[in-house]
Amino acid sequence: MTPDSSSSPAGDPSPSAGDRRIPVAVLGATGTVGARLVQRLERHPWFRLAEVAASERSEGARLRDRVSPDIELSAVDAERTLVSLDGPFRSHLVLSALPASAAREIEPELAARGHLVVSNASAFRADPGVPLIVPEVNPDHLDMVDHQAGRWTPTGGPARDGGGIVTNPNCAVAGLAPVLAPLDAAFGLRRVVVTTFQAISGAGRPGPSAIDLVDNVVPWIGGEEEKIEAEPRKILGRLVDGAIEGASLTVSATATRVPVLHGHLEAVSVELDRTATVDEATAVWRAFRAPEVARGLPSGPEQPIVVLEQDDRPQPRLDRDRAEGMAISVGRVRPCPVHTLRFLVLSHNLERGAAGAAMLNAELAQASGRVRPALG
Ligand code: NAP
Repeated sequence: MTPDSSSSPAGDPSPSAGDRRIPVAVLGATGTVGARLVQRLERHPWFRLAEVAASERSEGARLRDRVSPDIELSAVDAERTLVSLDGPFRSHLVLSALPASAAREIEPELAARGHLVVSNASAFRADPGVPLIVPEVNPDHLDMVDHQAGRWTPTGGPARDGGGIVTNPNCAVAGLAPVLAPLDAAFGLRRVVVTTFQAISGAGRPGPSAIDLVDNVVPWIGGEEEKIEAEPRKILGRLVDGAIEGASLTVSATATRVPVLHGHLEAVSVELDRTATVDEATAVWRAFRAPEVARGLPSGPEQPIVVLEQDDRPQPRLDRDRAEGMAISVGRVRPCPVHTLRFLVLSHNLERGAAGAAMLNAELAQASGRVRPALG
């Protein structure tokens, strides 16, 4: 199907003539992640942007007047009118790029009204009934969404079917988990020690002030280390009788903020059950592919992990945009005198870590027949 960027503006999800793509609503469309979702939808082969929402501050404004000035929008998207989170939305599929506090309120409400919410927010990632998905790693966990019926209670009126919440990981975990998964499968993973060097855009807009960050490294990001330590266990866990049995894995994380615009770098050392050489680990990463069910999704790179040989790679400026920000770069793979192996990981926090990750989850949901052309 050919993307058609002349879809009609927000509030009217009817497609322009000939555009048979599935309508999608984006919540938090004015934000750092939300604007990237809008851009991704402009060229998407399966989905088209139909509705845009943000906070009450933005209600009634044009999208172009509320996004960062460096975001390029199509002429149609620029003129879309923002609605509040009250909607009501006609798209079945809702992509959420809201802060966790707002997501905690509205996402269950939308799920109860029958929307499939694919969320970037952390609000429900740790919820035992909500899947936390990286399609290349644990696409089978999406089945959990089928057991959410009756879980979400709407304000007034009965819950409608077809609703649910699906989440993607924290932006540092989104790069780390796919690198850990093939190591775990091939050699068994016991312990991980990771120090992150996280980009400014990971904090959203307006983010940390320049005077705090230029010529500096901030050695703490609130709540981040807890997420990096918990989320890989859920993603690498097994789905047993509809519930996740977490992977027996210990992660120790130190998260820092560095003056880089986009791209999270992570220094990782791993202790494995079985000894692995640098060449063996490299071969495992290079051979890693999405399972059949998640292969060939429009936003998924054919080769999710790229191993670089140069001593001074990966670097954020040079390597973050590989495969439209969806390929993860690994470099400086070497034996570790404390654990088994050590290496660096780089991924684009706004693409592999957020907008691209949510899009990939939405595509997995569509490929598995869970997305409807409109709210039923
Ligand atoms: P952001 O730049 O601050 O954007 C937040 C968006 O949410 C804006 O559209 C904003 O609308 C809207 N919003 C804020 N408060 C709201 C409220 N009370 N009710 C309704 N809408 C509200 O944040 P971001 O970096 O895009 O992050 C969005 C979500 O993705 C967060 O949950 C974040 O943790 C997660 N995430 C971010 C990254 C990253 O690298 N940045 C990576 C992974 C996950 P207004 O313009 O109207 O204020």
